[in-house]
Amino acid sequence: MEEGNKIPKSASSRLCCRCNERKPALKRPKTLEQICRKCFYEVFEEEIHQVIVGNQLFKAGERVAIGASGGKDSTVLAYVMSELNRRHNYGLDLFLLSVDEGITGYRDDSLETVKRNEVQYGLPLKIVSYKELYGWTMDEIVKVIGLKNNCTFCGVFRRQALDRGAAYLKVDKLVTGHNADDIAETVLLNILRGDVARLSRCTSITTGEDGPIPRCKPFKYTYENLNQNHTYAYFKKLDYFSTECIYSPNAYRGFAREFIKDLERIRPRAIVDIIKSGENFRISTSTKMPEQGTCERCGYISSQKWCKACVLLEGLNRGLPKLGIGRSRGLENGNGNRKDMEQNGDVRSIESKQCGSLDF
Ligand code: SF4
Ligand code: ZN
Repeated sequence: MEEGNKIPKSASSRLCCRCNERKPALKRPKTLEQICRKCFYEVFEEEIHQVIVGNQLFKAGERVAIGASGGKDSTVLAYVMSELNRRHNYGLDLFLLSVDEGITGYRDDSLETVKRNEVQYGLPLKIVSYKELYGWTMDEIVKVIGLKNNCTFCGVFRRQALDRGAAYLKVDKLVTGHNADDIAETVLLNILRGDVARLSRCTSITTGEDGPIPRCKPFKYTYENLNQNHTYAYFKKLDYFSTECIYSPNAYRGFAREFIKDLERIRPRAIVDIIKSGENFRISTSTKMPEQGTCERCGYISSQKWCKACVLLEGLNRGLPKLGIGRSRGLENGNGNRKDMEQNGDVRSIESKQCGSLDF
């Protein structure tokens, strides 16, 4: 990518191939055309608008929470969503929703960014914290559990925390900054883990319609490796936070991410192909869907007697932190493995974004 005034002389004599008026500021990552900043913004925002309209992600009058971690993708999402909402009169009531896991030196700093975004974009912010909801911070959990299973706790707790925050805000939908790279990574991990039940679902642009709050991914078609979000955030001088979680040990996922990046270097369409293969995957046998119930302890949706968060919490509080770990499939009852698989699948999808590229 060439930035503004750093464009080489030969290129600077040409004009933006879209407007034919202004000097090009960068090569469009997707098409490699030379375009100016203004056209880049327009093209980028228009693409997201088309995804939103084409997939009918929202209805006028809806209340929508933007999962905001302070990271690049969710910051770009918050900015673009509020712009498009104004420009195209979506008629949405937008909110920022953040989770405070209680990770000193990481989340406390990134939340400062979100608090600034609240002012910059004029979007009301709600922060839900693990300490308040569960009585434990991730710092405290890591002291007990170590650095091996910490992300399991964090992922389970985050899912519920987001739903509880969304319920508090009385929103109809939650949008997250997951992009094409994240989805490709999740497809690959689900293949590697043999999680067929999860595989065909993880590519959907909207998930959780059967749960308390549907979640949508307007950046589903945005490729991070081609730097669109990065370029947008850079040119717009958006205020975001870019440090990785200090407890991020996820070597397996890191390997998948590197593998995808390598593939993409050789063949740029690899990301699209991986997502497509996930989309086209069909399970031939009829899969029995779980009955949705509620957790006897906390009232959260659960297909088991206790939800996963309550099982993990019980372990923590009883000094047996490994209680809900390891036997993840079919843990709570003998015949509910499908149910548990569903539940854990969701957990992984939430973890995936957070642990690698810093957004929900
Ligand atoms: Fe939580 Fe992500 Fe950190 Fe793991 S890497 S502890 S899931 S924030
Ligand atoms: Zn519960």
